Amino acid sequence: MQLFPCPFCGDRDEREFHFAGEAGKVRPDTAGSEAEVSAKDWSEYLYTQRNDHGHVREIWMHLPCQEVFLLERHSVTMAVIGATSFRDVGTKEASA
Ligand SMILES: [Zn+2]
Repeated sequence: MQLFPCPFCGDRDEREFHFAGEAGKVRPDTAGSEAEVSAKDWSEYLYTQRNDHGHVREIWMHLPCQEVFLLERHSVTMAVIGATSFRDVGTKEASA
């Protein structure tokens, strides 16, 4: 069993969390009436994962409290580097 840090609840059993995707993916632009996204672009956005070895940034949800946060970990050693609530990420990006 591994402990993941929920920014709201603290360290909890990994089985309480749901993986929600890799961080930093850019959603295809669908704005405007002229925007058309190809099936290939949608497929890559929805299903293609980078699967990097080393330091990765992922989006996770703690199911009991519904907190969605950014988890940084090492994908080979499974060491958790840190967790940041998206509320805090928005604050940091707004002030940068
Ligand atoms: Zn929580």
